[in-house]
Parts: sequence; structure tokens; C-alpha cells
Amino acid sequence: MENGKSPADVVKKTNLAPKSIIFQKFGSKACYKVEEVQESYEKGCPGLAIPQKGPCSYRCILQLPEITIESGIFKRKKDAEKSAAEMAIEKLGIQISTDSPTPQEASDLLVERLTYLFSNEFLSSDPPHPISGHLRAALEREGDLCGLVPLSVMAVYDSKLNSLCKCINPKVESNPFLVIPLIMRAASRLSELVATSEGQLSIWRKNLYPPEVIESSVDQQSGAPQSTLVEAIHIPCSQEKAIELVILDISSTGYYLDVIAKKLDLADAAKVLISRAIGKASSETRLYFAAHQSYLIEPSSDHPNAKEALHSEVSLNARASYLSSQDIYGDAILASIGFTWRSKDLFYEDVSVQSYYRMLISKIPGGIYKLSREAVLTAEFPLAFTTRTNWRGSLPRDVLFTFCRQHRLSEPVFSTISTPLKAVSESPGSSKKLKVTDSSEEETERASGGAISTDARESVESAVSYQCEIKIFSKSQDLIIECSPKDSFKKQNDSIQNTSLKIISWLNMYFKDLNLPSEKLNSTANVLDVQFSHENFLKEFVLSRSIHTVHHAETEGVKFLEPNTMSMLNTMPEQGVQSLNIEGPDSGVCPSNGSLLCISYSVFLVTEGEHMKENLESNPKFEFEIGVGAVIPHLELVVTLMSVGQSACFKTELPPEEFILAAAVNSARTLSLLSSKSCCLEYSIRLLQVTEPLEDRMEQALFSPPLSKQRVEYAVQRIKESGATTLVDFGCGSGSLLDSLLNYPTALEKIVGVDISQKSLGRAAKILHSKLSNNTGINSAILYDGSITDFDSRLCGFDIGTCLEVIEHMEEDQACLFGDVVLSYFCPKVLIVSTPNYEYNVILQKSSPPSQEEDPDEKTQSQSCKFRNHDHKFEWTREQFNHWATELAAKHNYSVEFSGVGGSADSEPGFASQIAVFRRICPPQGDDLFKNADTGHHYQVIWEWSSSASSS
Ligand code: SAH
Ligand code: MG
Repeated sequence: MENGKSPADVVKKTNLAPKSIIFQKFGSKACYKVEEVQESYEKGCPGLAIPQKGPCSYRCILQLPEITIESGIFKRKKDAEKSAAEMAIEKLGIQISTDSPTPQEASDLLVERLTYLFSNEFLSSDPPHPISGHLRAALEREGDLCGLVPLSVMAVYDSKLNSLCKCINPKVESNPFLVIPLIMRAASRLSELVATSEGQLSIWRKNLYPPEVIESSVDQQSGAPQSTLVEAIHIPCSQEKAIELVILDISSTGYYLDVIAKKLDLADAAKVLISRAIGKASSETRLYFAAHQSYLIEPSSDHPNAKEALHSEVSLNARASYLSSQDIYGDAILASIGFTWRSKDLFYEDVSVQSYYRMLISKIPGGIYKLSREAVLTAEFPLAFTTRTNWRGSLPRDVLFTFCRQHRLSEPVFSTISTPLKAVSESPGSSKKLKVTDSSEEETERASGGAISTDARESVESAVSYQCEIKIFSKSQDLIIECSPKDSFKKQNDSIQNTSLKIISWLNMYFKDLNLPSEKLNSTANVLDVQFSHENFLKEFVLSRSIHTVHHAETEGVKFLEPNTMSMLNTMPEQGVQSLNIEGPDSGVCPSNGSLLCISYSVFLVTEGEHMKENLESNPKFEFEIGVGAVIPHLELVVTLMSVGQSACFKTELPPEEFILAAAVNSARTLSLLSSKSCCLEYSIRLLQVTEPLEDRMEQALFSPPLSKQRVEYAVQRIKESGATTLVDFGCGSGSLLDSLLNYPTALEKIVGVDISQKSLGRAAKILHSKLSNNTGINSAILYDGSITDFDSRLCGFDIGTCLEVIEHMEEDQACLFGDVVLSYFCPKVLIVSTPNYEYNVILQKSSPPSQEEDPDEKTQSQSCKFRNHDHKFEWTREQFNHWATELAAKHNYSVEFSGVGGSADSEPGFASQIAVFRRICPPQGDDLFKNADTGHHYQVIWEWSSSASSS
């Protein structure tokens, strides 16, 4: 390579394979496609009619966001991929930390590089280097300017030149324009070849290019120039002044930088400075602004007044500086235009007001996510990574990478530690250490090998668990944020996503409310295992405060992250949703936490009195998981009140203006509505589909009748046999058991349900209410809101208690506590407890139905939940369950019998749902009932029905 240092050399030094570097940078967005190339064809055997199937060669096409690279031809696929990766690293100028050359070496290399850039072969290089485009365009400039290339072009468009300059003067990192004096110095050593002039800020080649070089460098077919108008955004230096659209007329054959210079009231292109690219990797969107002499103060002289000189001349453009994470002074123009690696033609794209706001919100993690979902007014960055199949939009890790790039921080540093999982010991309590949300691949493989009888624990014992730690550094390597949670995961990827999620959740909270008191920042950081350096953090994000519009905190729905983090997700803002109207018949198909919903929606900006309505965002098919805050809280609240087929309409107060303008296509109209009227947002949605959580899908697919139905029927059977007249269902949920009981004649007179989910209780109340009006023999029904680990004297001495699929939703110590509370204080004659049999999961997972449109490759990932449901805190093996139940029974003087539903007791791996039936051996002595227990009422009545009340 030109400067004697091929990318391959650089790569070798770092010990990082080119593919790893590309992976670090782009993750799953890097897509390698290897094509077979027939040898015989390549060698071009002329007379060969039938192409010979010789040994194959390969070519690799590497697709990266916005750039596609084609490798040469190689014998081995691997080499083709490697070469494509190397080419990408070269083209994108990816910085690889290596032992950099000494400043002296770098100065020499800089001269070499400059020599190459002005050589004959460079002008027609293929693929075209962006600078060669400028060289060619400069030759078309008129009069004295002919052949003059602005020095700022040299400063920003050649990554090699740039990194060499960084070696000479590290301050180039923060002020890229310090490259200019360095180039001038190098040029002075090349006085035969080039000339520069400080006044002009230009560089030019002294000797004319030979005509044949010019000819071969120009595209033959580029006919008459068409009328070309490009939209750009003018960002005034003063924040008082609004940004506005400007039109760049680049139709003439002139040099586009001269056109931009005119718009900035500058004499010519040389007076324009060009920022780094903004936005997506390899984007051509940049800021253009006036060059001031102070930029050129010799770095070596370390002029003490450099900054001050600049300040006295012109002031910082806060909006432009924030967008580019680079100091920009004076008025600026934001345009997407330039020569690229892709073609010799000038590339250009309109930058609209909407694009400006999209760039602005993509500085915020939540904004990055919203944009990835194309749902700026609807999507929110989810607070939990449940399963990969339920995740929509950019993954947490990718959002974190984008965020760091947008703010010009160093790339996040991930370190994962893997530790062999400890063997599961005999005591049921011990499996708590396996807080793993993943299905082990080994397990699945074994199962598909037919060895279903494998004790699931065996494979767990041999497996490994991952913890991930992430550090974020500034470009100058100051540590800003660090997150090292204790949670471990069975898959490395899950640990990476979960740690990324924690950092982003914290950052998001910061950006949502930039006036957050620092105690709050600290306490949430604690909860999320985040540590940050106040000083370094504020240094990096100082401008954000003056740029992002401040949010009205009271309309903000979810009060973000109280300690006890995710549990607060259940509390939804009743306020904030205005004039809600739900239409259509209740189909009974309702969302529950963990369901995947599909809705269609439109969002309108409406003015008071609804005289004007502007559509801001629509989506005919928008999917999201419910219960994790994946959409704005208002929407999340409303859909939980809906059933499939229903439509709803509601209004909310306005979100920050930047989001509205990032969504609005017609910015002019939107702005005029916003400025002249009092407005709100109107959402119109329709619930199209509800896909149940994986557990339910698995249970329905594998069992007929579905496992949940079998459980309920098992319990109903026992209840009938027992002749019980009073029943309490612990953790009744939406009342599936209570509901079914009303379908059969039983001796029951009084039924009670307890749960901590008000939403579920609400649904249970609806169902019971509609059924109980028929004569069922039941004369009292009550639903309580309360935790079943708490005592409430109103539940003492019932005939029968049921607790179906509830204990696994509590931490193990809580499940044990529940056992003690029920059997020692509530003392039902019979207690039925069911919970999943962990050993059965291999079968469930093996036959889990793929959800619609799921990529088969994703199949294993879709099962990334080790347990059947991500809300499960544990799942017990038969042995663990027996151990718990047997000890509990013995302690409280009950007998216990084991049974189950789904599968059978006699064949491995037992029942799908395991059930214990406890029976009281001797009736409690009267005072025994309340020993140690207060007589308090700790539950809250949510709904109550009695036959006497209703018939009277
Ligand atoms: N028994 C129902 C619901 C099972 S889902 C059925 O078989 O369909 C588990 C239920 O347990 C959820 O509704 C959840 O809200 C409830 N739950 C979890 N922890 C609880 C606790 N500590 N006290 C009461 N209910 C609890
Ligand atoms: Mg469950």
C-alpha cells in the first residue's frame, strides 16, 4: 500500500482478525455473502462450451450499513471473507489501536501520503477515493480557483492522513482542523509537487495532470448536468433563531463546496470547514461552516490564546456542535452531499427539517430505538430483555454502540467472564443460583438425540454461565460509565444484551429528564449496577441540556425505575390518557404480560376543538411485547383494556417537540400548528392479534386439552370429591379456576381469590360477575388484592385451598414462606399446589411451535428462556418439589400425595405440571388457628358479590 503499511499489517499488529474488528464495529449488521466463482470461467477458457466444474473459488460480498464491499477471488471462503473485512477496515478508516508510529515517522508518512494523493494514479484510482472526486471537481473551477482544493477537504476525507496527524499531534482528536497546519507543513517539504497558501486555505498540484489521466478519471457517460437542487438545513449560531431549510443549487458544473460557501456568505470553498460525518456510519451528512484563522494556530506553538482568539471572533454553535460532537463556530449548514467510495459521481440527498430532528433524537438511546422501530411517537426502549423472539427493533447492544458513536465516545468495551455452573445440590433452595434465562443448547441437543430420560440437571452441571461487564470510555480514554451486574446467563449473548440494557436504561433516564437531581441519578445507577464518573459524564454530555427540549415531567407516564426496578412496570399512569374510547365487541382474547401484540395505529396532531388534524405517524402492523414498557405508557395502559378486534381512540399531551418533528413529514404545517394553537396528540389504534407467551403456546401445542385446562380440571375434580363448601384460590390470576368451577355442580358456597395483580383481578371480576348472576349455588364470592405470603384472618379455616402455577413466580424463599403461612395459619383441610416440572422442559422446548414468520435459525434463540416463562423465578425438578412438599407437610402435620398433569408419573421425565395435594391430618385446636398471628386484615377487597345482595 501507498504508505508502506497495508491494512493487513496493521491488523496483524493488533492480533485481532479483520472479521473480529468488523464484528466489534457492526455486530450483526455485517453480512457476509460468499459466492462461488467457477475457476474455468474465471480463467476464461474460450472454446469451452460446457463450463467445467473445476475447483471453486470464492468471492465475498460484505454488506455493511451503507457500504458494500466486494473482495477479490480466493481459493478458500475464509480468505475471501477476510479480504472483504480488510477492505472494509481500509475504506471506512476504522481506527485500530496499534503501536502507532512516532511523531517523526508519522511526519514522514504524511509526506508520503500527500505525494500519493497528488499522484497521477490516484486521480483515476478505482474504487474512487473521495478526495479524487474533489481533485477532479477542482479542475473544473473557474479562473484563479482552477485546481485549488480546499485544505479542509484534505483534513476530513482521508482517514489515513487523519490518523497520521493524530500521531503527530493528539489534539487533532478534539479539533480535526489542526490537521490543516500539519498538511501545510508536509506540503512545504513537497515544494516540487504541491503548493499551499495560508491565506487561501487551499492546496494545489504544481504541474498539470497529463490529459490522458484526466480523461480516464472522468466518467464517460456523465452527460449534460441536470438541474439539481439539494435541500439542506441552516443552523444559525444563535439558538434563539430557528433552523430553516435552504436549497443548494448544484446544477451548474461548478464545485459544490463553492455553492455551500455562497450560502454561508463566504468567498469560496476554501473558506468552508467541513465537520465529521454525522449520523449513520459512513453517512455523508456533514456540517459546513466558516473557517477562522484561529483554527490554524500552530499546534506545536501551543498558542495560549488559541481558544480565546476564537471566542472573541465568533461563538460556539451549540446545536451544530452537539449534533457533530465537535466544536463548531458561527452559522452552519447541514447537508448530505459529497464524493464517496461508491461512485465517481457526486452523491447528494435532501436533509429536511424532519431529518434534522431525527439526527437530534438519535443522540438519545430512546430516540435511537424509536427510529429503529420507525415508531417515534409510539415505541419506547423496553426495560427488560425477556426473549429474543419478543424483542423488536435494535438490540440493546447495538443501541449502545450507536449511542457511543453518536457522542464520539470510544466503542464500549465488553468483557464476559464464563464460569462453570455449580452443581445443583439436593436442597431446593440452591437452584436459585441458577438465575439463568436460557435453554442450554446441550440440553436441546441431547433431547433431539432421543435421550429424553436425561436428567436435565446433569447437563446443567456441565454447563457454563456468563456474566458481562461493560465499560464506556471517552475518546481520550477517561472512564465514563461502567456496569458490572452479578446476573449470569447461560448464553454469552444474553449476558451482553442484559448488561447493555442496564446501561441504556440508565442513560435513557438521564436524557428523559435532564434536570434529574443527582441523588436520583445515583440511586438508579445503584439499582442498575451502573457506576459513573460524575465529572467525566458531565463533561461529555454538557451540551445536551441546552439542546433537548425539556419534558413536562407530569405527563411522563412511567415514573422511571423506583428501587425494586421492574416490578413498578405494573403501575400504569391512569392520568395522561384522555378521552379514551374503546369500540367494538369484547372478543375475550386479551393481552397478558409477556404476550406479543400486533396493532395498527395512527397518531395525529390535533388542535383544540379538533378543527385541524395532521397525521404524524401511522403503522398498519406494529408488534410489541406487553409488560416491559416497549411502548409509551399511555398505549401500554390502553391495550391492556382491549381485546382482539377492538379499536380505541385516546388523546395525550404533547411529547417533547423534537419527537413530534422527527415524526412529521410535513414539518412546515406541523410547526405552524404547534406555534399557533394548543395541541394534543390523538392515537387511533386497533388490536389485531395477541400471541400468547411462549409457555402458553408450548402448552397448547403439545397437550390436548391444553395443559392449563388439564390443571384446572384436575383441581375441579379434587374439589368435587372433597365436598368442600369453601374455597380459596391463591394467586388466582384472571380467575381461570374460579371461572371453570362455575361450570360444574359442586358443593361450593363461598369462593375467594387472592392475587397481587390488580389487572388480572379486574379481569377475574368481569368474568365472575357475568357468570354468578346465573344460579350456581354459590352465595359469596370475593376477590382480594394481597400477597399470599401475608396473613389475613378472613382466609382461615377454609375447606380447600388451591395454588396453581403460582409459587414459581415468587422467589424461592417466598415460596417456602407461602407454604408455612398457608399450612400453619390458614390451615385448609386440603391444599393443592401445582408448579412446572423442570425436567419436562426438554420436551416442551423440542416441540415448541415456531411463532409466525420466525427465522428457523432463530429457533434456538427463541428458546433463550431457560424457564417456560420469563417471569418464573425458578422451576423445580421432581426431586426438588418432593423435597419441599414433604418437609413442609411433616412440619405442619399434613400428609402429602404427588400427582400431575401432562405426561405420566411412570415414564420419564414425569408429568409436565407436578401437583402436590396436602391433607390436614388432625383438625387444628381452636386457638391453634391464630397462634402468633394477628387478626388483621392485610388484603384489600377488590370485588365482592353475594347472592343475598344481588337477589334483593
Ligand atoms: N393460578 C392462575 C394464575 C397463574 S399465573 C392460573 O393457573 O391461571 C401466577 C399468578 O400468581 C399471577 O397472577 C401473579 O400475579 C400471581 N402471584 C405472584 N406472586 C404472588 C404473590 N406473592 N401473592 C399473590 N399472587 C401472586
Ligand atoms: Mg407459571
